[in-house]
This record gives sequence, C-alpha cells and structure tokens, in this order.
Amino acid sequence: MEERSGKKIFGGIAIGKIKLYGKAENKVVRTKIEDADAEIKRYEEAKAKAIEQLGQLYEKALVEVGEANAEIFNVHSMMLEDDDYNESVHNIISTQNVNAEYAAAVTGDNFAEVFANMEDEYFKARSADVKDITERVVTILCGGAEDSDIGDEPVIIVAEDLAPSETVQMDKSKLLAFVTRLGSANSHTAILARTMGIPALIGVDREESWNGKIGIVDGYEGKLIIDPEMPVLEAYFKKKEADDEQKQLLLTLKGKENVTKSGQKINLYANIGNPGDLASVIENDAGGIGLFRSEFLYLESEDYPTEEEQFQAYRKVVETMGGKKVIIRTLDIGADKQVDYFKLDKEDNPALGYRAIRICLTRPEIFRTQLRALFRASAYGNLAIMYPMIISVDEVRKIKEISKSVKEELLAEGVSVGEVEEGIMIETPAAALMSDELAKEVDFFSIGTNDLTQYTLAIDRQNAKLDAFYDAHHPAVLRFIQMVCDNAHKVGIWAGICGELGADLELTETFLKMGLDELSVSPGCILPVRKAVRDTQ
Ligand code: PEP
Ligand code: MG
Repeated sequence: MEERSGKKIFGGIAIGKIKLYGKAENKVVRTKIEDADAEIKRYEEAKAKAIEQLGQLYEKALVEVGEANAEIFNVHSMMLEDDDYNESVHNIISTQNVNAEYAAAVTGDNFAEVFANMEDEYFKARSADVKDITERVVTILCGGAEDSDIGDEPVIIVAEDLAPSETVQMDKSKLLAFVTRLGSANSHTAILARTMGIPALIGVDREESWNGKIGIVDGYEGKLIIDPEMPVLEAYFKKKEADDEQKQLLLTLKGKENVTKSGQKINLYANIGNPGDLASVIENDAGGIGLFRSEFLYLESEDYPTEEEQFQAYRKVVETMGGKKVIIRTLDIGADKQVDYFKLDKEDNPALGYRAIRICLTRPEIFRTQLRALFRASAYGNLAIMYPMIISVDEVRKIKEISKSVKEELLAEGVSVGEVEEGIMIETPAAALMSDELAKEVDFFSIGTNDLTQYTLAIDRQNAKLDAFYDAHHPAVLRFIQMVCDNAHKVGIWAGICGELGADLELTETFLKMGLDELSVSPGCILPVRKAVRDTQ
C-alpha cells in the first residue's frame, strides 16, 4: 500500500482501478546487464508486443477513420521490423552490455536524427515516426501504459496533465476520479471534475507501477491510496457509503426554493461545458444555465464547427431546458484552450494575449457564424448570449453592431429569432472599474471570478506553484464584485457570478448581502449552495 497527498479539487470518494492515462515521460537510465542474449530477447518480446498493439490500432482506426488514415500504423509496424534499426539495438546491447531500454532509446535518437537531416520532405517527416515507434517499445520495456484510450471499465484516471481537448473526448460514464500532477484549482480539468461531481486531486507525481492497481481517491482529505490494505479498503467502503447518503440527503433539497430564512431569493444556475452535461444540470435541479462554455464545441472538432452543427448543439440545450434561461458564452479560445486549426501564434503571455472576444472581433467570419447559430437557436427556448474578456465600452458597441447586423440578416432571410438578452462577463479589472458605463450598454453582468481574480491579483490561474499566494477571498476581488453588482442595479440590470467562487459556501452569505441576483455553479454544487442559502438568515 502506498499513499500520496495532493491538492483537493472536488470532494468525494472514489474506489476503483487506476488507469495511467496518456504517455508518461519514460525516464531511460543506462544500466549494465549480465546476459546480453537475455536482454536482446527482452527487446524482441517488447517489439513483438508493440507490433501487436499497432495491429490492434490499425483495426480500430480502419473502422473509425478509414484505410488511408489507418495506414500509418502499418507503416510503424514495418519500421519496427527494419533490419538496420534492429541491428543497431542488438549491437548496442551486446557490445556495451547495456539494458534494452537504453539501446532502443539511443537507436531511436540516432535514426530520428538521420531522417531529420535528409533532403527529401517525405523522409524528413519519418523522423517523428521513428521517435514514436521507439517511445512505444521503450514504454513497454518500462512496464508502462501507452495508449490513451480509457477502456471499458470505470477507472481512476491518473495523468501527468489533461488538456481540455483530451477530457472532452473521454467517455464520462467510465470516469471515477481524476488525479494529475499538473493543472491548478481553476484549470479546465478541475472545472470538468466539479461539473461531473467526481473527486479530483492535482499535484500528485505518478508512478508507472500503479497502472491497473486498485486505488482510492479521497477528495476530502486530498489523498490517493494505491493498493490499499484490506482494513483501509473496508473503512473507505463505509466512508463512501456515508458520503453517498449525504449526497442523497442533499437531493431532498430538490424542488425547494433558493430562499433565505428572511425571504431573500437568489437564482442558482449551472455552468456546463457541452450538451452532454445536461443530465447533471437536470439531476441537480438548476434553475437555468448561467454559463455554457461554447468553446468546447470547437475543442472537440477537427475544423471550425459549421453554423448548422453549432445551431443543433445550442438548440438541443435550450429545448432540453424547456423555457429556463440558457446563457451561452461566445467563443473563448486562446490562453490554455488551444485549437490547432485556429493556427494561433505561440505567445509569451497567452493569458494576456490573443483570446476570446479579441479573436472574434478580428476574425468576424468566425464570430458571425456563431452568432447566426445562436440567434437561430433562440427561437427554440430562452436563450441569452454573453461575451467574454471585455475591457471597454468601445468593444461592447462593436459587438452590438455585429450582433444587430447578424439578427437583421437572419430576419431578412425569413428566419425566426427569439427575444435574446445580451450580457457581458466581467472578468478583467478594466471591466469591473468601467462597470457603471458598461451597465448602460447591456442586459446583464456575469462576473467571471476565475479570470477576474487572475488579472486582479496578477496570479496565473494555471500555475500550481502560485496556489500559496492565491487568495480566493482577496478583498480586492470582493470589492470589485460589490462594485459591479451596485453598478448593475443602478441602471436596473441584473448581476451574477459564474466563476468558481460562486460555489464557495463560505461566501454564500456575503454574496446574498451584496445583493447578487444569480450564482452559476457546477451542477454538483447547486444543492450544497441551495442548502447554504436556506440556512442563511
Ligand atoms: C471565469 O473566468 O471566471 C469564467 C467563468 O470563465 P472561464 O473559467 O471559462 O475562463
Ligand atoms: Mg474566464
């Protein structure tokens, strides 16, 4: 039994098989061996296993992506059979009396360099393939997991890091918990864990030997236990049972109002990342959707999602919510959410860079496509639009011009459009400070405290090293929230919070006192916040 501590991201207990997800960085160490023939045999066995894996990948790809795309796995198999490559590995093992991992890694590096220096573009590109096949063999020799498929049974995912594009593709019904080394409390993996209501930890260094072992994730204590002893496992089964009971108790709050003892009401909405999250929105009795992060549609695609694809997704959400408000945020790509086909330049300061509304305003064809899809979907329910990363009144006026012209274009085509509230996210200090002016331009404010805190405190929300400096309750942020709320009310519009801070139970009473009209939180947090509201005087 082993135990590791990590930073708690979402509470809960998960018990199940550990699955090391993604490619681990293989640390190849040169070691002397006694029996070169046995080592060559070990290499040959690993190679055979790699070829078997490639065959399986070919079959899978054939069905999923067609023969032309699947062919790469055949090419990789052939490369692994290459005489020069194999002779080099054998030779290094027998002449230097070293381990197979080392011999394969050195051969891979040498061959990759040879290919990279070739004139012909086709052969140049094979350099990456040599690295790939070598990595596969070395991973097998190191005893690690190679493929990124999470398999058929429910698992605890243990990864180095998880990109938003990876997590969106996972089969959610198979996820028991997330444990990563990188990421931070406000990273998108953390948000996904909260949305799904599954325990999650960050800051845990993984070990290859954990793969396939039974693990326990204690999201309350911030612990990962590997291969637990029987008494520990039994205690955790009991703890999980009690936890499930508590969750059941919260469910008794379903259908109840979000009202304090003295009668103050507040709207509790849900944050979602894609239409697949709707089940948990309904299960947790959200009054609406306060933030639909539409960029997940872009992250899931290989190319720009079409107007029709977007329209279908938005329509599904508003229809499913049956008249309840659904606030869809326009594209927020950039910073930690990179999409290849946008071909964004690498930036030194991506969080302060070309992202969100800045992309939309400079690439209006992308923005107009999304707005057309949104306005079309508005005819099917109660849809509102909000714009992220605003810093000025000028920007809002430009947005309103574009949105007006899109609406007029649709009406001229005879397409019906519903009544659409248009609001902005307040997630920059500039927007908070200008909120008196901005309030005159829009229908509502939704405060994105994740970014507002990042920019106010000058603390990168992705950087786990800064967690010690990150004060979620910093008075500067709380003052901004009060200011934004007051400025909204002065002109009769509503203000809410859609950042993670909205679910902070220690602040529920403060937010009620501030007079906020809405809190939009991960679906799993709706009922705990409702309880906190109902417990408030
Ligand atoms: C925020 O910044 O608070 C927010 C809700 O947006 P995101 O987390 O998607 O950046
Ligand atoms: Mg944000």
